[in-house]
Amino acid sequence: MLLRHTSDTIIEREALTINPAKTCQPIGAMYAALGVHGCLPHSHGSQGCCSYHRSALTRHYKEPVMAATSSFTEGSSVFGGQSNLLQAVNTIFTVYNPDIIAVHTTCLSETIGDDINQILQKARDDGHVPAGKHVMFCNTPSYVGSHVTGYANMVSGFIRHFPQKMGHKNNTINIITGWVEPSDMREIKRIASEMGVKIILLPDTSDVMDAPMTGKHEFYPKGGTTIHEMVSMGDSRYTLALGPLCTEDAAIKLENKCKVRFDTLELPLGIKATDRFITALSRASGISVPDKITAERGRLIDMIADMHQYLYGKRVALFGDPDLLTPLIEFLLTLNMKPVYIVSGTPGKRFEASLKDMLSVDVPEAKFRNGAQADMFLLHQWIKQEPVDLLIGNTYGKYIARDENIPFVRLGFPILDRVGHSYFTNLGYTGGMNLVVKILNALMDKIDREVPEHKVELVM
Ligand code: SF4
Repeated sequence: MLLRHTSDTIIEREALTINPAKTCQPIGAMYAALGVHGCLPHSHGSQGCCSYHRSALTRHYKEPVMAATSSFTEGSSVFGGQSNLLQAVNTIFTVYNPDIIAVHTTCLSETIGDDINQILQKARDDGHVPAGKHVMFCNTPSYVGSHVTGYANMVSGFIRHFPQKMGHKNNTINIITGWVEPSDMREIKRIASEMGVKIILLPDTSDVMDAPMTGKHEFYPKGGTTIHEMVSMGDSRYTLALGPLCTEDAAIKLENKCKVRFDTLELPLGIKATDRFITALSRASGISVPDKITAERGRLIDMIADMHQYLYGKRVALFGDPDLLTPLIEFLLTLNMKPVYIVSGTPGKRFEASLKDMLSVDVPEAKFRNGAQADMFLLHQWIKQEPVDLLIGNTYGKYIARDENIPFVRLGFPILDRVGHSYFTNLGYTGGMNLVVKILNALMDKIDREVPEHKVELVM
């Protein structure tokens, strides 16, 4: 028993989080910055923070993650990090020659109160930023929000800095995506391409965090949204913001800045959310949905119909990030499964409200909580009180899954002990099929393992 001290008696806590269901803001900011071509993320804080953020991303994506740091010492912790950041900007452009330095803060620089806007303006005024190169920033104090807040802040930072309204509206649709895998970003582009819709995707970590092995090290891989694309987002016809927590603020900023209207949608995970995404893309572009996409939808529905008996009524516990959990819960309800326990370490009233909306009728017994005290310990206690048939979440769920003998599907960030998440999408109808396969495999493997010998079935 790895978690032998977890009891089923719940004592309400106000100041203690045990095994949080979130991680720190700059990790999200770093990941979003890697989705821009030629961009070097820069962590304004101590070396330790930067090393942790890089290694967290490397462990999940199995790719090297390049990032610079202001490398705070005791002196900068007391007197501020201006001189470190000025020197860093100079050194980075001289040695590593990125197109953009994307600075995010850390707990330490936020607590000191460094004014990054002023410091970067000084870097420009002092001639540390070569012509045609950019420095931009976002604030990511990690004692507020979570890794997805950091992602959202960096995406908003790109929108603040780059898009321009040149006055030549074109037919391009901007898609600002929440935190998903490179495979998911690739799938969004594939769906748009099948439909014949020209899009700009921001950020885009495909061909960066899932780059092929070529035998040649590319410091800046070929993927990522380009500066030209980000600038021209101001002239696009419409914006779709996928995943409200991560993208809505950026879409609002773009509308205010360049008058590009927008819709906020859930990430296209599962049938209903993908239907809404495809419909919105079709409406925004004026292009009808091709038969190929309709056929993909049909195949997903066929698979669900074929295997429905294994899914019906199964109790599911979930943990992770709101933008992922909301459409996932909707999908589980479509599959006639019962999402009974849900925790997310990321705070937010909108998530709470959407859970109430979705679950009050179909699963009135569901328990959910988000914010600081919504931790893995609480989730485990709920499971101990009344067990579940399936657990879905990131790698940290494996301890609970092992102790309670629950089939476990890995989804979300981080996944440290398996591969495949960077390469096989969970979005769109194709991703829906991938997800149903994972769920079924987990459930059916347990049946095969535990069923009495005389009941072993070859055909299931
Ligand atoms: S000090 Fe703050 S920014 Fe640095 S690793 Fe810890 S939580 Fe993250």
